[in-house]
Amino acid sequence: MSSEAAELASAPVLWDATNIKIVLVNTSHPGNIGAAARAMKNMGLQQLVLVKPEEFPSGVAVGRAASAVDLLDRAQVVDSLEAAIADCGLVIGASARRRSIPWPMLDPQSCGEKSVAAARDNKVALVFGREDSGLNNEELQLCHFHVQIPANPDYSSLNLAAAVMVVCYELRKAGLRLADQAEEDSTEFWDQQYATGEQVEHFYAHLERMLVAIDFHDPENPRQLMQRLRRLFGRIRIDEMEMNILRGILTNVEHAIGNEKQQ
Ligand code: SAH
Repeated sequence: MSSEAAELASAPVLWDATNIKIVLVNTSHPGNIGAAARAMKNMGLQQLVLVKPEEFPSGVAVGRAASAVDLLDRAQVVDSLEAAIADCGLVIGASARRRSIPWPMLDPQSCGEKSVAAARDNKVALVFGREDSGLNNEELQLCHFHVQIPANPDYSSLNLAAAVMVVCYELRKAGLRLADQAEEDSTEFWDQQYATGEQVEHFYAHLERMLVAIDFHDPENPRQLMQRLRRLFGRIRIDEMEMNILRGILTNVEHAIGNEKQQ
């Protein structure tokens, strides 16, 4: 794994994955349930809900789940989609086809963003249909939005577990973006006031005096020294406390060389 990939995989996730459930409706092949559980765990999701699965529990599902068997053990089995989404504030149904009644549509990326944002304070359900016929109209109408993976129009129907993977991957990416954003915001906080323009100008004047005094800087032959030092200090946005420390150092240097010259 590249160091960048390792960093991305270990970055803190600031969304509440326990608030997001993946709901599989009437799945006929238990292998798909296992593969969906694996995809979920790979992407950091944990809550699997099965509406009337044809065969569950199942050894085939366990085999396909690999190290995600814990998700199968904790999976909730319910009798209806209504029961699965009863506690959810946002419900998004995955559908390969546009249906007769137009419904608010999302692409996978905006589905990820919407879900992760809502999952801070709400339970969210992402609903997937049967392998042969998908979700029926009544089920789709229980959803606030539909998400469609923009697949090849000549063959747009993904394997159920592959569709779960695409949607869960977008959830993870949205969660990581949120964590990055929070980290960026937190570096904006600083416990001290930044030094003002006036304080900084006094500092540069003081610095220049000291550099002349120690024969490091010749104003007759400046060689862009002060510009380079300005660029150096400008890169770090010095705060007032740091500025006072630097001014104190300059003053002490001046005293020290004054004392030395007197000796
Ligand atoms: N033959 C079915 C598709 C079944 S695939 C149909 O035409 O509706 C099983 C489930 O995977 C679908 O119900 C849907 O939830 C999901 N799925 C498959 N392909 C998808 C796509 N392109 N976009 C969104 N969801 C998809």
